Amino acid sequence: MRKLLLPLMALFLVLALSACGGTSADGSSADPDASSQEEQSSQPEPYTISDPTVEPEGGSVDGVTYVPYDGIVEHLFFHPVVAYPELAFDGDAEANGIDDYMVTADEYKKILQSVYDRGYILVDIADVWSETTDENGNAKMVRNTLYLPEGKKPLILSFDDTNYYEYMLSNGFAWKLIIGDDGKIASYGKDPQGNDVVSRDLDAIPILDKFVEEHPDFSPFGAKGCLSLTGYEGILGYRTQTDTKSWTDEQEANRQKEREAVKPIIAELKRTGWTFGSHTWGHIRLGGSKSLETIQADTQRWADEVGSLVGPTNVLFYPHGERPDGDDWQKTGPIFRYLQSQGFRIFCSVGINSFSYIKKDISAVICDRLHPDGTTLRGTDKVLGWYSQFYDARDIIDLDVRPQREVRWTPKSTTN
Ligand SMILES: [Zn+2]
Repeated sequence: MRKLLLPLMALFLVLALSACGGTSADGSSADPDASSQEEQSSQPEPYTISDPTVEPEGGSVDGVTYVPYDGIVEHLFFHPVVAYPELAFDGDAEANGIDDYMVTADEYKKILQSVYDRGYILVDIADVWSETTDENGNAKMVRNTLYLPEGKKPLILSFDDTNYYEYMLSNGFAWKLIIGDDGKIASYGKDPQGNDVVSRDLDAIPILDKFVEEHPDFSPFGAKGCLSLTGYEGILGYRTQTDTKSWTDEQEANRQKEREAVKPIIAELKRTGWTFGSHTWGHIRLGGSKSLETIQADTQRWADEVGSLVGPTNVLFYPHGERPDGDDWQKTGPIFRYLQSQGFRIFCSVGINSFSYIKKDISAVICDRLHPDGTTLRGTDKVLGWYSQFYDARDIIDLDVRPQREVRWTPKSTTN
């Protein structure tokens, strides 16, 4: 993928410090990763265009003209999608949480089609910013100029908690990723009747793979999405975690088996454009309720149990969207500094737009992601407006399968 991408995308660096316009949303209140919908805590900074004297790497390739792009890079994130709504929305204790924070496989397919139809193309989060050295010898992040097919807009996708937690197994989600008979990533799970199902239509990851196969111009550089992994119940449906409460030789042997089993899945995901980021080992809050020592132990454990499988990453996705050191995006406190010292450079929260900001006092970029899910699909007209460049939520939400709960938007028929 890199080979394909290099001639086409940003190879020179934007020297001016830049910040995408927008506002930061407070990300502390909601669970699991969504943030407060209505709060805005900052004024937008002016967006700085890259040095126009640098020769771009544009031009035409195979009849497509590539032009420089320095605008906002949009970023949407999803949790695992609901394969079987009748299991997810069966009225049990998890049903409303799933309604709040997830979309169904069918809703997700409609969202992909809509962003594709509106001219978005997928880019790799690692290609949007780079680390360089300033004139004083200090490392700092810079925003790269992207070279995109003329008229197209860049979109990062990330997928939180693609661990296929135990609670998901009885709630209508995929159980794990596997490699199907055709050699492609598929999901394995059980349908409501208890039958084994291997499919490329029931989980966000193979659904996107398939969509890109059918619409290759949705991913001209081979990018897919960044998988945001915890470690406490293993990764990608494989139980690779340690359990310090009780640990026998047999459990350890089984864990090693799971570690071996997930390796080809990771290799195939990487080969097909997927990347990995940390969501902390224990899905822990970083805002201040945990001590620095706890966060250090958690970070080490992620590196031991997850990083040892997926490789190093410089992307950290905050659990619950909660920013370190008191949930203040402008602060660079001890927890942020520690995490940065461990190699993280791109710190992702959750917000009402794709805010991003390159920090000036440390080599790091912070960014917000929008969250297509029940809370926003059911949102007010104002919330729908935040998503209107991607889709009309009223066309996406499947009220026939979701719980009978309030929607806050104005129905379409009365809006015009
Ligand atoms: Zn999460």
